[in-house]
Amino acid sequence: MKEDILHNLTIINDRIKTACERSGRDPGEVKLLLATKTVSAERIKTALEHRQTLIAENKVQELKEKYEALKDMPHENHFIGHLQTNKVKDILKYDVTCVQSLDRMDLAEKLHQRLSAEKKTIEVLIQVNTSNEESKFGIAPGDAAEFIRKVSTFPTLKIKGLMTIGLFSAETEKVRKCFKVLKNLQQEMIRENIPHVEMTELSMGMSGDLETAIEEGATIVRVGTAVFGARIYPDSYYWDEGKNNIEKL
Ligand SMILES: *Cc1c(COP(=O)(O)O)cnc(C)c1O
Repeated sequence: MKEDILHNLTIINDRIKTACERSGRDPGEVKLLLATKTVSAERIKTALEHRQTLIAENKVQELKEKYEALKDMPHENHFIGHLQTNKVKDILKYDVTCVQSLDRMDLAEKLHQRLSAEKKTIEVLIQVNTSNEESKFGIAPGDAAEFIRKVSTFPTLKIKGLMTIGLFSAETEKVRKCFKVLKNLQQEMIRENIPHVEMTELSMGMSGDLETAIEEGATIVRVGTAVFGARIYPDSYYWDEGKNNIEKL
């Protein structure tokens, strides 16, 4: 089991390196983030013991359950799931350093309120729904610029870039289109040069499409199954929560 994880990490790092070489990029520009939903603390530990430093959960409940077991190991924790405003307190309590899934004003307001009270700041990425699928979270690409301008006025929220899930498809060119939407938005925002907004990070690409994402400029690829193996829950359980009904399960 442990050997599997280490073997998979080697393969993923090779894939990242090859994709970087093919697109003339430095592999040092692309961070590997481990998406650890449903993965036990024990297995996450194995990865952290082998040079991995960046992990992310989708649900506050899982963050909470694994926190004690992992807190003494050096690592950084991002949040990549749909975040309910009533869970903002927990995000801060469990040392999340970046919320990659900021996609609406009430969440930005709530984060700012709580952070102000605790005299803290947090990094955020703006999640964009580049595939225009009803079922996916994220702000519509056309509304993103205005949203970013508004969020930039909250001094506690440090905007670092953009995140997207993109289309789930075997057709590479359709997936690529989503990543291009994110990249174009990033370029547009860089030109606008909004005070206090950094647009350095593009979080896109997962187990199945990380090569395409790297070719289109990803600086963070989020990988779960290709390192830890298949999950029993369908991804819709994590992505559509509150949108589509999970009773379908
Ligand atoms: C689960 C998840 C990933 C990783 O997906 P895999 O296909 O398992 O690599 C990436 N991003 C988000 C937001 C996720 O929920």
